[in-house]
Amino acid sequence: MKIGVLTLQGDFDEHITVLEKIGVNPVKVRLPEHIHELDGLIIPGGESTTIGKLAQEYGLIQPIRQFGQEKAIWGTCAGAILLSRDANRSQPLLELMDITVERNAFGRQSASFEIHLDIPALEEVDPKNRPYPAIFIRAPLIKSVEDNVEILARLPDGSIVAARQGRLLASAFHPELTDDDRFHRYFLKLAGSQSE
Ligand code: GLN
Repeated sequence: MKIGVLTLQGDFDEHITVLEKIGVNPVKVRLPEHIHELDGLIIPGGESTTIGKLAQEYGLIQPIRQFGQEKAIWGTCAGAILLSRDANRSQPLLELMDITVERNAFGRQSASFEIHLDIPALEEVDPKNRPYPAIFIRAPLIKSVEDNVEILARLPDGSIVAARQGRLLASAFHPELTDDDRFHRYFLKLAGSQSE
């Protein structure tokens, strides 16, 4: 399976390390021609405005939009913002997922934190249901989702922090920063599934 990681800005190296650990040799995506023949693309955490502007400059917005019509894309943190339809401010977005997000939704005190979340969908890759260590760094929240979006994870207060729409996946937290590779394996499964 061919998985790409968008390597414009942010913590793409950490995604690459996890992918290599689980037997995938990822393609670094910087230009439109790097997207051809991929089965899935990961958009890392970082600074969504910067990644969006660079993607525009490199002519990647339309090719990624088109790719996302059929193939799997996973956005973590800033990547989830880029996938959203609306971030309540003017910045380049892919507008692929029917979700709205609020950037930097956590106050200064709790700008970064780790919490164990119950994510039942991960049982698809590991039947042992155990809490998932979710790391939030100046993270967004998913404020609303349309009916076609499945909510995968919530904080204890009910806020939505992970969602899936077909083969599009958004997480407000950073699975690439933990030793738990279940989220990456879940994405590989999505990328390898037949289109619905
Ligand atoms: N705060 C960043 C943004 O709004 C996201 C932070 C991250 O990706 N860790 O783009």
